[in-house]
Amino acid sequence: MKFKPANNIQDLQYFGEFGGVNPSISDSSTYTFLSAKTMFDTFEGNADGCYLYSRHSSPSNLYLGKALAAMEGTETANVTATGMGAITPVIMQLCGAGDHVVSSRTIYGGTYAFLKNFAPRFQVKTTFVNITKLDEVEAAITPKTKLLYCESVSNPLLEVADIAGLSKIAKKHHLQLVVDNTFSPLSVSPAKLGADIVIHSLTKFINGSSDTMGGVVCGTQEFIDALRSVNDGASMLLGASLDSLRAASILKNLRTLHIRMKQHSHNAMYLAERFEKDGLKPVYPGLASHPSHSLFSKMINEEYGYGGMLTIDAGSKEKANELMELMQKENIGYLAVSLGFYKTLFSAPGSSTSSEIPDEEKVAMGLTDGLIRFSIGLDNDIERTYQEMKKCMKQVGVL
Ligand SMILES: *Cc1c(COP(=O)(O)O)cnc(C)c1O
Repeated sequence: MKFKPANNIQDLQYFGEFGGVNPSISDSSTYTFLSAKTMFDTFEGNADGCYLYSRHSSPSNLYLGKALAAMEGTETANVTATGMGAITPVIMQLCGAGDHVVSSRTIYGGTYAFLKNFAPRFQVKTTFVNITKLDEVEAAITPKTKLLYCESVSNPLLEVADIAGLSKIAKKHHLQLVVDNTFSPLSVSPAKLGADIVIHSLTKFINGSSDTMGGVVCGTQEFIDALRSVNDGASMLLGASLDSLRAASILKNLRTLHIRMKQHSHNAMYLAERFEKDGLKPVYPGLASHPSHSLFSKMINEEYGYGGMLTIDAGSKEKANELMELMQKENIGYLAVSLGFYKTLFSAPGSSTSSEIPDEEKVAMGLTDGLIRFSIGLDNDIERTYQEMKKCMKQVGVL
């Protein structure tokens, strides 16, 4: 049977304490007990349905975690204060001193910086590979390797990871396959393709209103319990817990994610097709010209499309900056990092979100200075947007 992630979210029923159609928000950081014995049991994790302290867990966070686990088809999930607050504890939980990570070289700048510059302080080393070359991935594995790390659709180059292929390699070598699915919620279901752990920055498409940060780790009950252990759980002890008020607001936005993703995908496909016809070389996984188009077509839950992210190379940093400033002036979108907003957002990753990556490595992976990353918005009239973007591109000489 086909996996239906949005149905799984919608089928969950949560009621508020007075019969409200939304669950009540647990507006407390600490909880009282009638008996001291129950307090001890709760601390040890042996008193189901009892809460002790909101860094450990709260009803609002559990509701949101349950909905996200239903979306990804994993046993359970742990929500966190940010996407990085989900990613770094997963790596620290799986790796100790002497261990090794094989990671895609095209990943979010913060994740790259963590693996490259921070994890080595704890003797965790990473080999960065071209994730689209499965033989290169397998060749990088050593007896010390504990995990394979990638993004379903990579930031900012929109490379597609063959999750099923990577999963086979991971199983063969007894590794955990960790997939950051931030760019393709609903479209891609990594756990269904064999990923062991699925991560999102909720800050992006899932929340979708650019008003809060959040993250999630979806996985087995055993792994999430380990992350949350009060004795040695990386998530619990590093402390990036989500606040209940924010968990409640993200849950409400999650309920419209399917509608938004369809519109983001529709608009991005529309622009990618037109700009390609105009002679630009947009990178978009929905275009037949994308090197992983046929693979991605087989991976996705097709009703949600190919996603809202596309890139265009303006030729140089100067041209990219001129174009972005003009598009902002014309109210086409905002010159801003992040993604998944109702308004189109654009930035030049070479000098912003991927500036952690050294120049020679940028060249090797094809991350040029003129590259503009677009998170296409929910525009109701995308033909109008196209015409206005085209005018700007002509004006600065990109078209
Ligand atoms: C933004 C982002 C992150 C980090 O998430 P934060 O919520 O900013 O901590 C991780 N991975 C990807 C792909 C992202 O786009």
